[in-house]
Amino acid sequence: MGSVIVIGGGISGLAAAWQLRGHADVTVLEGHTGVGGKLRTGTIAGITVDEGAESLMALRPEAVELAAAVGLGDALCDPAKAPTTVWTRGGLRPLPPGHVMGIPTDPAALAGSGLLSPGGVARAAAEERLPAAPLAEDLSVGHYLAARFGREAVDRLVEPLLGGVYAGRADLLSLRAAMPRIAAVAEQGGPVLPALRRMRAAGAPRSAPVAVQGVAGGTGRFPRAVAEACGARILTGTTARSLHRLPGNRWRVSAMTGDGPLTMEADGVILAVPAYEAAPLLRPHAPLAGEELSAIPHASTAVITMAFSRARSRFLPAGNGFLVPPVDGHLLKAASFLSNKWPWLRASAPDTFVLRASVGRIGEEALLSRPDRHLIRAAIAELHHAVGPMGEPLAARVTRWNRGLPQYCVGHHDRVARIREATSKLPGLALCGAAYEGVGVAACVATGHQAARHLLTHP
Ligand SMILES: Cc1cc2nc3c(=O)[nH]c(=O)nc-3n(C[C@H](O)[C@H](O)[C@H](O)COP(=O)(O)OP(=O)(O)OC[C@H]3O[C@@H](n4cnc5c(N)ncnc54)[C@H](O)[C@@H]3O)c2cc1C
Repeated sequence: MGSVIVIGGGISGLAAAWQLRGHADVTVLEGHTGVGGKLRTGTIAGITVDEGAESLMALRPEAVELAAAVGLGDALCDPAKAPTTVWTRGGLRPLPPGHVMGIPTDPAALAGSGLLSPGGVARAAAEERLPAAPLAEDLSVGHYLAARFGREAVDRLVEPLLGGVYAGRADLLSLRAAMPRIAAVAEQGGPVLPALRRMRAAGAPRSAPVAVQGVAGGTGRFPRAVAEACGARILTGTTARSLHRLPGNRWRVSAMTGDGPLTMEADGVILAVPAYEAAPLLRPHAPLAGEELSAIPHASTAVITMAFSRARSRFLPAGNGFLVPPVDGHLLKAASFLSNKWPWLRASAPDTFVLRASVGRIGEEALLSRPDRHLIRAAIAELHHAVGPMGEPLAARVTRWNRGLPQYCVGHHDRVARIREATSKLPGLALCGAAYEGVGVAACVATGHQAARHLLTHP
């Protein structure tokens, strides 16, 4: 393959560019002024913090291996050890260790935690006595798990994790796509609890989602390092507007830059943009793929970052933060105590305590229409309620991620298969990104590598 244009300079597109180094002349088109997409650092009270993703999944290797390959091996760091904690029923309540996306391997350990009522604990523990035929079709997480463990377990154990990872809701998300380990057990048949215990005894699965690493200085360093190391020509401030097929399986990309229109041609194109951006580019060439991509819903979220003076605050919380079940009706869906969680941040700003609160699951768009100052006031009030009287922050800032997280609804795997089938008829074109096989950074890196390999093997 002589030349490739990668559209989208988030981590997926950059991972593709990295995989193509030495095999093709690569140009990355990025609409924003900088690369990275949802991996972005900013500053608050003069301190560098992550505004989007703050960690890389380390249970699978792709992200941490790429970070090490581009020179960030020494910057990879573990978060402080702390249990996953849920703010519910008026208190901060740790989940017992050994849960899989909130599903406890030992429901008896929930007794006395305040997370579930005694009846809810008994109902969850009864799962191993319920008959379980092999699951033949995809179901929603909520549908399947409520039938097995009871609605209370879904509302108070599973929903907080789904909100934190996907900004999603149990009754919409696909069991296969959003909880693949549970789905694999369900498809085998038999109760879930003994299977999870067997996996745990065999060393897997580890408790999710704790097996993550950060990047000292912020995960925003990661895409910048890949962009530098991959050797590609990176054109920022350049938004692709349309794609044209040319004779000889070549492609022309028409883009808009700050200086006016730009047209480029290449042997291959990788679309590494969100589904709703890929849809209009693809529709003229693969109408079905365009329709399917447009049909993927996206949740919008906002991250409210706050910096507190350690000297002036009456109280600062312990732990790494908390998740919140929607059933409790709070504004916040999660809070991450960055200065406790990331040693690099504590070392770089010892006098300041930085945290971030997040707001917005699918269907909660109305919350996000509030002005920044309302979100900040409401977040401070709920934090005081959850952890104690922290006082006023020195600085606070809202980062909005409009349509930031694709939702893997029931049937998502089949939809992705249809998209891939439709685009397989377009030589020299490949897709990657968060819309397909995982929203986490590691999954995005994997799709980028896969798209690059596809072009190299199917020119
Ligand atoms: C608030 C938040 C927190 C998160 N936290 C975590 C976390 O802690 N750990 C984790 O693993 N995952 C996390 N995620 C998920 C993860 O960060 C993303 O799924 C992932 O970074 C997406 O990467 P991407 O390259 O596929 O897409 P993006 O990051 O969206 O990159 C796509 C790029 O394409 C550009 N673009 C779009 N259209 C065009 C066009 N027409 N022409 C040119 N360029 C274009 C965009 O500007 C963007 O830079 C988080 C997501 C959000 C929103």
